[in-house]
Amino acid sequence: MAAPPNLPPPDKLLEMADQYLKELEKGPWPSHVAEMRKTGYPLHVYGVGLVARKSPWGPSVVKTKRLTGVLARIARDWVPKGGEEVHFRVFHTPGRFLPTSYLRGIIKVAREYGIGLVEVVGQTGAMVINVKSKEVGDAMIEALRQIGTDVGGSGDAIRELNTCVGPALCEFALYDTLKWFTEFRKDKKIQDAIAVPGFPYKFKIKFSGCPMDCGRANRADLGFIGTWKGAPEVDQELLRRKIEAGEVDPNDLVSKCAGGAISWDAEKKELRIDGSRCKKCMYCIRRAYPAIKPGRERRVAVVVGGGSKGRYGPKLGWFVGYLKPDEAQKGIELAFKIIEPWDKEAQAKVRLGDYILMAGLYQFIEKAGIQLEDTPRLIEKVPDNVPYRVLPEEERKKYAQFAEELRREVGI
Ligand code: SF4
Ligand code: SF4
Repeated sequence: MAAPPNLPPPDKLLEMADQYLKELEKGPWPSHVAEMRKTGYPLHVYGVGLVARKSPWGPSVVKTKRLTGVLARIARDWVPKGGEEVHFRVFHTPGRFLPTSYLRGIIKVAREYGIGLVEVVGQTGAMVINVKSKEVGDAMIEALRQIGTDVGGSGDAIRELNTCVGPALCEFALYDTLKWFTEFRKDKKIQDAIAVPGFPYKFKIKFSGCPMDCGRANRADLGFIGTWKGAPEVDQELLRRKIEAGEVDPNDLVSKCAGGAISWDAEKKELRIDGSRCKKCMYCIRRAYPAIKPGRERRVAVVVGGGSKGRYGPKLGWFVGYLKPDEAQKGIELAFKIIEPWDKEAQAKVRLGDYILMAGLYQFIEKAGIQLEDTPRLIEKVPDNVPYRVLPEEERKKYAQFAEELRREVGI
């Protein structure tokens, strides 16, 4: 990559980089620069990047028998003194609970084979251990396996799984996200698909215990989100007490309910929720818990095709049906059903969500053979030459309604 314009000569550039880094060490708060100085990280490259306002790193490769999870970067040729950065993406524990013995093991590996730097949660969700390129090899991977983890999750493969803390810490969890995470992680086929890249693009699987979606499952290629059927459960007596104590405003619940499902009978002091209109936004539950709780008929909503980037922009996942909270194994089977048509038909570097947009959601559901509880189906056969057939039913209705309003407005 060409050097950014107006860069000062190399000596001056390094001097300015040093000043920028020193600036980041000032103040009473912890400084990432001060901490990184204690490691072998090539900080001057980072500083030069700050001065140039451009990433100072370019792609590089490092020889390894391992197929995914080992990444290398090299400083661009306009960075004085050069530098390299190699790291391992290391699997997390479910929910990122880190026993001290595990952490000690990780630190030992990072010091023995690396530069003493561990990023506990990297951008991909994996733990990142920076290593020395000459140490990349079986010995380090074996040392990590001894602690009970492994390296993986880069390239066109299943990436590091992600889950919210779920029932271990959170009262809202509607299924055991940590158990699902562990069952997926233990599955041999999933393991192989993490270790060996072979898909058109990356494939992310995430688990969230409830619709608040702390695990960002709605942005995954395949997401599992805890939910319930029907209306939230209301303990009228407890709710009345909360209202009298000024903790809950029933009119606020009514006005902010995403589905317009809540009504408040001021005379009887009773809150009613129409389950058929509830959008499971969790607002009433968050405001009035535990007087309002999720319904008892728990489900795991399956969403597919989400992603923050892609050929056609960011997308939230499409709902394709429900599993039950004890059906993690069915979730694993489903993952491969979903992957199959995408793997067969999508071009390289097309994410699942983009492929679904091209193929059409209902066609995709049919091709993948998805048959879950409440899986959406085409209500009517839409002719092949109608372009909006690729949109889900709900979106199609919105566009049709918008077109109708527009038609009325212009009087045609
Ligand atoms: S997604 Fe729900 S269950 Fe999971 S941590 Fe967040 S609030 Fe709790
Ligand atoms: S969860 Fe959301 S949509 Fe459902 S009743 Fe409560 S506020 Fe309304």
